[in-house]
Amino acid sequence: MTTFTDEHEMFRATVRDVVDKEVNPHADAWEQAGVFPAHELFPKLGALGILGLEYDTEYGGQGADHLFTLVYGEEFGRCHTGGVAMAVSVQTDMATPALHRFGSHELKQRFLAPAIRGEMVAAIAVTEPDAGSDVAGLRTRAVRDGDEWVINGTKLYITNGTQADWLCLLARTSDEGGHRGMSQIIVPTDTPGFSVSRKLDKLGQRSSDTAELSFVDMRVPVENTVGDVGRGFQQQMAQFQNERLIAAYMSTGNMVDALARTIAYVRERQAFGRPLGDNQWIQFKLAELVAEVDLLRTYNHACAQAIVDGVDPLTVTKMASIAKLKSGRLQREVADWCMQFHGGVGYMEETWTSRYFRDSRLLSIGGGADEVMLRIIAQLEGLGGA
Ligand SMILES: Cc1cc2nc3c(=O)[nH]c(=O)nc-3n(C[C@H](O)[C@H](O)[C@H](O)COP(=O)(O)OP(=O)(O)OC[C@H]3O[C@@H](n4cnc5c(N)ncnc54)[C@H](O)[C@@H]3O)c2cc1C
Repeated sequence: MTTFTDEHEMFRATVRDVVDKEVNPHADAWEQAGVFPAHELFPKLGALGILGLEYDTEYGGQGADHLFTLVYGEEFGRCHTGGVAMAVSVQTDMATPALHRFGSHELKQRFLAPAIRGEMVAAIAVTEPDAGSDVAGLRTRAVRDGDEWVINGTKLYITNGTQADWLCLLARTSDEGGHRGMSQIIVPTDTPGFSVSRKLDKLGQRSSDTAELSFVDMRVPVENTVGDVGRGFQQQMAQFQNERLIAAYMSTGNMVDALARTIAYVRERQAFGRPLGDNQWIQFKLAELVAEVDLLRTYNHACAQAIVDGVDPLTVTKMASIAKLKSGRLQREVADWCMQFHGGVGYMEETWTSRYFRDSRLLSIGGGADEVMLRIIAQLEGLGGA
């Protein structure tokens, strides 16, 4: 059973307040703009400690336990624009965990500390045009020349891509094939040879900027390598655990909110001479979804507690994969039913349900598609590789 202290609950109120005051009032404008001002928002989050919850105090982190990450995820999931929640989680749980875990002291001072303060915006650059689910297929190369890496390649669908000050880049650093011979390299985006090829238009998460990035003979010091040369794939797989967990935590946050808003709507809206919510079909459907979200939230809490308790890494991998798989599927269902019970107005751009429906589609694709989660779970169950 998860044990929240008064401190966790106070922190929950703090995150809820910053989402209500600093994000939700701007949600419509940022959706319209197709980008949100990360360099304005992130320092406000940094000042509240949100961007470095579990990181060492030496670099400005809070040194807090993982339950604080759970609380932050659930509350940030309530953003009325999924793009901002995603972008913030890139900063906290996708681009920085490996740097914190494996990076040198100097690298952490230069890149992690300002990211925790919100002064620098970070991005994670793994996916390429020919390598998404199959990370082992990536082609971006970093060739050593003295004390520098010379980097050439392309990265695709990179969140925060037009605003990032640095990237955690996964590149090939040797001729070994497959998952061997890759390294994680911190790449400042003001390095000559780096460019944003294009900002991508997309179905949902529209307040978040997603970009294609190009690297042409870009030179970065070898000392910017995170951890050991050649261990990038393994380090990135570990970093994906954080990504999958925060995505699951955020998803139950937004599903609880979406169902509450829909229940309020069906209690008010009249049809056939009575509130929509008087129909047993609607009551039962919403009750069932509430039950499923509650089960998933309880499972998420068990995942978070398992991490606090230091259970073995394979158990965490399995739990994170299950949480991510089930969140992606359930969020699609919840978004669909919320729109259904709003009827025509739910289909209108002016109603929150249409954005939520679009935003909810990503979770089953990004950060490891549902099928990649199933693959991991199948392998861990001894079913072999598919
Ligand atoms: C809005 C958005 C933001 C993103 N942000 C980032 C980011 O910041 N950094 C980053 O590096 N990447 C990012 N991505 C990339 C994302 O992680 C990939 O899109 C995802 O991993 C899937 O890769 P792919 O698109 O190449 O699909 P593919 O690998 O081409 O797969 C296509 C589909 O095939 C199915 N599939 C794949 N493998 C299997 C299998 N073994 N068995 C059965 N079915 C399978 C799945 O349904 C999958 O959706 C982002 C993507 C989007 C859309």
